[in-house]
Amino acid sequence: MSRPYIVDTRWYRDLVESAPDATILIDAEGCILLVNAQAERLFGYAREELLGTEVETLIPERFRGAHRIHRDGYFSEPKVRAMGTGIELWGRRKDGSEFPIEISLSPLRTEAGVLTTASIRDGSERQRANDKFRALLESAPDAMVIIDDRGIMRLVNAQAKRMFGYQRGSMIGRPVEMLIPERLREQHKRHRGTYFEAPKVRGMGAGLQLWGRRKDGTEFPIEISLSPLVTEDGVWATAAVRDITQRRKAEQRFRALLDNAPDAMVMIGRGGQIVMVNAQAERLFGYPRDALVGQLVEMLIPERLRSRHREHRQSYFNDPRVRPMGVGLELSGLRASGEEFAIEISLAPMSGDDEILATATVRDISERQAVERKLARYAEDLARSNRDLEQFAYVASHDLQAPLRNVVGFSQLLRKRMTGKLEATEQEFLDFIESSARHMQALVNGLLAYSRVGGADVAFSDVDCERVLDGVLDQLHTVIAERGAQIERGPLPTLRAAEREIHQLLQNLIGNGLKFQPGSGPHVAIDATREDGFWHFRVRDRGIGISEEHREKIFQIFQRLHASDEYEGTGIGLAICQKIVQHHGGKIWLESVPGQGSVFHFTLAAE
Ligand code: ADP
Repeated sequence: MSRPYIVDTRWYRDLVESAPDATILIDAEGCILLVNAQAERLFGYAREELLGTEVETLIPERFRGAHRIHRDGYFSEPKVRAMGTGIELWGRRKDGSEFPIEISLSPLRTEAGVLTTASIRDGSERQRANDKFRALLESAPDAMVIIDDRGIMRLVNAQAKRMFGYQRGSMIGRPVEMLIPERLREQHKRHRGTYFEAPKVRGMGAGLQLWGRRKDGTEFPIEISLSPLVTEDGVWATAAVRDITQRRKAEQRFRALLDNAPDAMVMIGRGGQIVMVNAQAERLFGYPRDALVGQLVEMLIPERLRSRHREHRQSYFNDPRVRPMGVGLELSGLRASGEEFAIEISLAPMSGDDEILATATVRDISERQAVERKLARYAEDLARSNRDLEQFAYVASHDLQAPLRNVVGFSQLLRKRMTGKLEATEQEFLDFIESSARHMQALVNGLLAYSRVGGADVAFSDVDCERVLDGVLDQLHTVIAERGAQIERGPLPTLRAAEREIHQLLQNLIGNGLKFQPGSGPHVAIDATREDGFWHFRVRDRGIGISEEHREKIFQIFQRLHASDEYEGTGIGLAICQKIVQHHGGKIWLESVPGQGSVFHFTLAAE
């Protein structure tokens, strides 16, 4: 080692002494020529101990060999090298302790050759800060990738390694685009360039649909947030990367669910902005999804109702709860075409990421309303035409009575006046006129009775059916006596009914039972039992019976199975019975064995 070349320029010494950093001056052989007070403090040596020694004294032994080579390299091409340009070095104090240092170098050309000034800074502080930063990075829940302004990855955390399947070493120093599918790389480079022109914090999910690419080439959806990181080497960017595969799947499932729902669904936020719609909503309102999401929900409502809707909406969000369909929320919707239509909606609150959302289920009820209106109109028409018909039947039969009475009266008068003067055939003609007129009277009376059933003047009261039956049998007593009939009666109830109609019902059925039982000693039995909510009556006879094919037909008006000379009648009786039973909310039907008898069943509402 050569004698140290003493730099004796006073101003240079002063300069070195006053430098803020520890500073030493060495020559090409690494011999220390000058040391300032800061260097003494930093390394724990007195100046005299260092002057003339090799600079490697200040470096841990294990680095010394490499350092000498570096030093030679530097002196062969000396230039200014600033602090923190990637050279991480360790210093060694006199007491043997080591510490991280940062070094800047600048060559100094002298007559005696090139010397080098080294400014040395204790890097412990910075090291600690770095360590802290790294720890922070590692503890982040997301994968973190820090890139410089050229898109080179400078730092990555363990989550990033795991997510993309690379070793740290094969990521650091390489362009971030290696983590992106090839087809998106160019586009990403452009985005990156734009970002670095005006770097700012950008949160996750800011509308960026991104894809990551693993080492094995598989792709996965990611979400990214960016924030600028100011370093000594310029502005870098920290990217937090989140794998949203699961979320995407859940979203897809959710969307499929929504799109399969039978009703249109519109999800809105507190401010009324549409957050999501399903396929049915697109169809119903005639807008594509993109034209709806983000807009105010009032766009789907006719203008005149909008301000009221806004108020409703605000008050709903103040007290959000489930409101089912058809609880008075009838609204009008507005289609893209400008057409209005009736809707019914139900509302359900739902908590979103950070706010309450409301899902409105919307049903187009215009068709239903039209059908309802039509049905109501039909029902009204039907009721009116029934009323008209009954009125007509009533008036017609009523007005027929007087002329009929005349026919009967005058033919009787004629018979009286002509007594003894008529030939047998003429006598027969008169009989025929009379019997026809009487039959017609019976028809007219039957029609009148039929038209009166269920009329407005028919009042319901508590009717004791036992008493009604007494009255009926009273009326039939001549027939009963003449025919030697037996009437068997079980207990009958008291129920809410129209008394006159019940009387008529029993009279017709018992009358038929007697009539269609030829021979002497006919037998008719009547009883009733209580069943679910109604009374079940039965009227049995042991008469001629009714064959299967006629069992429905006989309830039609004017339907008879026999000629008048066999069994007289009008064919109105059972039609009246059916109308009465229906008026009381019941049914009538029959069982019969031809030749053995019939059972007429009917029910009457018990309450
Ligand atoms: P009408 O008794 O005036 O003929 P109804 O309407 O009372 O008219 O009866 C219609 C038809 O039903 C009768 O003509 C008869 O053929 C049949 N019918 C009614 N009741 C009985 C019965 N108890 N047994 C057999 N046939 C009956």
